Amino acid sequence: MELDRFDVGLPDPQEHEPEEYSACSGCGGTIYCGDDNILDIYGMAVHDTYNCIYKAVEAKKTVTIKDGD
Ligand SMILES: [Zn+2]
Repeated sequence: MELDRFDVGLPDPQEHEPEEYSACSGCGGTIYCGDDNILDIYGMAVHDTYNCIYKAVEAKKTVTIKDGD
């Protein structure tokens, strides 16, 4: 299989590697300088996604019990 022609003329995505800023306190993923979807929660850097926030603050689901009728 010859794939060489696909290697020519495409920009290298690793060429301008962004600078690491921190790690997400939710998912543990890397946060890079310039990310604009990062929240500061109690001093933690967290991706602005439900799952990351949920894990970062160690939220627990609450079960509400309805009064019987
Ligand atoms: Zn995250």
